[in-house]
Amino acid sequence: MKTLIEHLDFALTVDDGDRVIRDAALVVDDDAIGDIGTSAEVAARHDRTSFAEIFDGRRRGLCPGFVDSHVHLSETLSRAVFPDNLSTRPWVFHWAKPFYAHVNAEDEYCSVLLGITEMLRGGTTCFLDMGAQNDPAITVRAMSETGIRGITGRHAADNPPPELPPGWSAEMVKHHFFDNAEIALETLEDCVRRYNNTANGRIRCWVNIEGKEPCSLELHVGARHLAERLGVGTTYHLATSIEEARVSEQKYGMRPITRIAENDGLGGNLVLAHAVAVADPEVALLAGHDTKVAFCPSSSLKLAKGAANIGKYPEMMAAGVTVGVGTDGVSASGNLNLMRQMFVVAGLFKDARLDANMVGAQKALRMATIEGARVLGWDDEIGSLEAGKKADFVLFDLDHHDWVPFGDPLQALVWSASSASIAETWVDGRPLYRDGKVATVDEAGLKIEARARAAAITERAGLSKAGVPIKTTLYD
Ligand SMILES: [Zn+2]
Repeated sequence: MKTLIEHLDFALTVDDGDRVIRDAALVVDDDAIGDIGTSAEVAARHDRTSFAEIFDGRRRGLCPGFVDSHVHLSETLSRAVFPDNLSTRPWVFHWAKPFYAHVNAEDEYCSVLLGITEMLRGGTTCFLDMGAQNDPAITVRAMSETGIRGITGRHAADNPPPELPPGWSAEMVKHHFFDNAEIALETLEDCVRRYNNTANGRIRCWVNIEGKEPCSLELHVGARHLAERLGVGTTYHLATSIEEARVSEQKYGMRPITRIAENDGLGGNLVLAHAVAVADPEVALLAGHDTKVAFCPSSSLKLAKGAANIGKYPEMMAAGVTVGVGTDGVSASGNLNLMRQMFVVAGLFKDARLDANMVGAQKALRMATIEGARVLGWDDEIGSLEAGKKADFVLFDLDHHDWVPFGDPLQALVWSASSASIAETWVDGRPLYRDGKVATVDEAGLKIEARARAAAITERAGLSKAGVPIKTTLYD
């Protein structure tokens, strides 16, 4: 079935030349982009009777669907539950871990569905999820039912802390940590074999591990080698804070990325989440191995990671490292909104380096679309608006106040518009968000369930009690 959307005010293609088409037309041919060009060009190339539907795109603007390079969909029920004064390590060890450990299978389905709903409302059409706390079948089911595109896995770790910290239980450790790297990798291989390339290729499954202190060196290195053997990718957290880097230097005499590199752990199929505590020689290591980076701006702001202070993202990009943007999770960053991430990315380094040429709107849009697709190894099919690619795109309502009036559509998109001005989000040729509703989700029922489950998990995990640590020496 072919659909034509014509007379769009603009299309930001994010192709190799960052072409902007005015009075644009888009042909959706089943799950793919059949054609894109000016309305006159497209009209000349197609017989109007060949279209099942024709939409008037006046007062609509078009851009590729956003790609979230790092997200935890099992975290979506923890919005604004933890204190606002946590840095990365206490946030992870004393708050997120107990929370995750008490997310049961039913909670996780609700959490993933809620996250996907927020994403579709915000124009996100594809993501790299760090993976399920339970069987990834749950995440795969939610992805399959909603129609979104993405990569998931099983959130794996194998190195519990030497003694149980406050709030942790033996059951929690048993649920959260595999006995050793070998057992973890066997399980992850099984997950990839079961779930990779399902739902008409919309769903992929990778060898994902948590990374850093809760994972052994063997698991870090083994995950990438296993992923290579299976023809997929792997992702984990690394160099996520200056504290993690300091502890690594004290324990092993080297920073986290150097340690992985020294052990043949870097490669083109590895995506490092955060990578904020990075030394100059490590930028060259990442570039040399074509290792990808998922920068999470909101998470950096909220957890005081120091993206502007110690981060080397502009240097990484200058050295040829592919850097995408991620939202991390609704607790770590507050939202799953890639338009907010673009806004921060576009300006953070201009401000910090007193240089108006740093990053900016065009690069920020590329990071949230085509570069993100490269991070996920999926740029042959998504990330830009080009004939033959998958029909994953966002339509903006240019009558929304955010857009009245505007000159340059790119600047208006990144600096002015909010996701409230999104009219439609399409994935795989289907309008999944339209007329203020996500078509594949019972949103009213989901909200009721999400509130109840969030409160119950917080209670079970003991996070509503006083005395949960806000500083940590765990794993020091
Ligand atoms: Zn994360």
